Amino acid sequence: MSTNRRTLLRYGLATVAALQAAGLGVRGQRTVAAPADEPISIVPNPGYQRIACEEAWTTKEIVDAQIRWTESEAAGKQPYMASMTRGFAGNPRFQIPLQEIGEGRILDMDRLGIQKQILMLTAPGVQILDAATGTALAQSANDQMAEAIRNHPDRFAGLTVIAPQDPQAAVRELQRGMTELGLKGAIVNSHINGEYLDERKYWPILEAAAALNAPIYIHPTAPPVQMGKDYVWRGLEGALAGFSHEVWLHTMAIITSGALDEFPDLQIVIGHMGEGMPLLMYRFDYMQVLAERPGTRDNPAGTKLKRKISDYMRENLYITNSGMAWAPAVMFCQQVLGEDHVLYAMDYPYQRDDYEVAALDAAPMSWDIKKKFFQTNAERLFNLNT
Ligand code: MN
Repeated sequence: MSTNRRTLLRYGLATVAALQAAGLGVRGQRTVAAPADEPISIVPNPGYQRIACEEAWTTKEIVDAQIRWTESEAAGKQPYMASMTRGFAGNPRFQIPLQEIGEGRILDMDRLGIQKQILMLTAPGVQILDAATGTALAQSANDQMAEAIRNHPDRFAGLTVIAPQDPQAAVRELQRGMTELGLKGAIVNSHINGEYLDERKYWPILEAAAALNAPIYIHPTAPPVQMGKDYVWRGLEGALAGFSHEVWLHTMAIITSGALDEFPDLQIVIGHMGEGMPLLMYRFDYMQVLAERPGTRDNPAGTKLKRKISDYMRENLYITNSGMAWAPAVMFCQQVLGEDHVLYAMDYPYQRDDYEVAALDAAPMSWDIKKKFFQTNAERLFNLNT
């Protein structure tokens, strides 16, 4: 077994890019999404711009702080997070493109036909760090991202990095990002040391996001220790299952907490085809009473929602197809969530394949809907044209 393969298994990094980096050649497995085994050329001007909405980046300071964290006592209590962090932070095949938010990245975007990327701090971000360090690094990252956007306003937009482990500081940084830096929402790399934004202490962040018209993008990270054990033993904690299931929990937690009744303008965005959630909307409504029953959330009365779970999903939830260049899934989600709620994302640099762009260009949907999917939904949700 090669070192690369052992490393992959140890860290459970099941992304296509990780496998390709290790020379495992997953292209041969692309049975569902690949149009054909012929040369692929991306149409440069299909009549819509391709705006990619979940495009990862980071800073060297954040990676250095993450590596220091992996050696700390706190990391010993979050072993799966520590494994993933070492796997990402220590891998130059990720770090070189992740830390490049200038000309080098634009060359890749040109090759892939991407007009604009919405930059999103990659997992685990600053959320594993102590609150003061996380807050300071979030500010510095936002300054650097804002500069990259000023240098290339036609090519980049970005989501505000926040450290939700200090909710008040996170609110202030989100306000600064949205009002002073021209950023377009917030990135939350899912759980906060095993906690979720549905807990009341984090509601000021939800309130501020709703007031600022800042969509909150919840991106996967390694599951917390209490969730991860059964996944890790089977190698399932990463992109194959654990990432998705953990964001599913986070999203459903916010919906069933009643936060969207309190903040009806809040917009939540999740990637990877909505982590599979749209497929189950019917059942969510049928079984909604389970989450409302007395005793849940330590509330003797339970938490009764004003509307059906599917209503919140259609009105407050937006999804991207990141990592899922699969037209049947995209079109199903357009049907059940609404064609205005499904946006394009590539998942750069973890996935960055020309055949994926070509497969979606060739999707059997009308040109009008394709333009919404690739361009105008992102422009409207993230307020890109102001
Ligand atoms: Mn992703």
